[in-house]
Amino acid sequence: MTVAGSSSSIPRPDRACSSYLVDDGETPIVLDLGTGAFANLRRHADYDRLGAVVISHMHADHFIDLIPLRYALRYGAHRSEKKLPVHLPPGGLAMLRTLVSAFPHEGGDFLDDVFALSEYDPSRPLAIEGVTLRFAHTAHYIPAFAVRWERDGISVTYSADTAPDERVTTLARETDVFLCEATLRHGEVEQGLRGHSSAADAAGMARDAGVRRLVLTHYPEEATSRDLDQAARAIFAGEIIVADDHTTLDLAR
Ligand SMILES: [Zn+2]
Ligand SMILES: [Zn+2]
Repeated sequence: MTVAGSSSSIPRPDRACSSYLVDDGETPIVLDLGTGAFANLRRHADYDRLGAVVISHMHADHFIDLIPLRYALRYGAHRSEKKLPVHLPPGGLAMLRTLVSAFPHEGGDFLDDVFALSEYDPSRPLAIEGVTLRFAHTAHYIPAFAVRWERDGISVTYSADTAPDERVTTLARETDVFLCEATLRHGEVEQGLRGHSSAADAAGMARDAGVRRLVLTHYPEEATSRDLDQAARAIFAGEIIVADDHTTLDLAR
């Protein structure tokens, strides 16, 4: 599992926004492809090798690099005949089509020439080759979905963007790697509707879910990895990793 982008919505200097590559050697799956993440991703996987892209929600810091990926698949040196499956959240298809409708077309269909676009049903598991993905609604400002990747008893659960939420905790139950957002600064309180977590909130969810390893990610430039680690360590007794772009974890037990 490789972090291709660890920033919250404003990219930290030299860092990209949300993206995670889970590569079992057969079907590399990209969870989110945020601002700047495609450039990072290229260090770890050739784009013509990707098995699927799955988008958690339609905030730009989670999907906007589908655009450069599209250029690569259309004009890049490695092109495959097969269209790349892109699984969007419900409503994502219309939004993506509206966005690219403003682009001058270069012949063909901007998206459908290279992508096999679909929307997943978050209430059902999604099978991709030997991998099963499960989803859970999160507490966010727009519909957003946490994703659990699972293969041969090994799992990675990605929180997407969320305030502390039991549905996410349930999805992450005893997962091997819990990628959890830590957008809020220590002590920062969201006014009104909540949609994000702090490192302490992430640690609370990790503890409640009994996860093996907690990876703190989606954090802003004001946060230092020491502060994030300390805030989480007071609550979660398992292994804690503060993500950076290109952080790679071996999923083998
Ligand atoms: Zn975000
Ligand atoms: Zn968001």
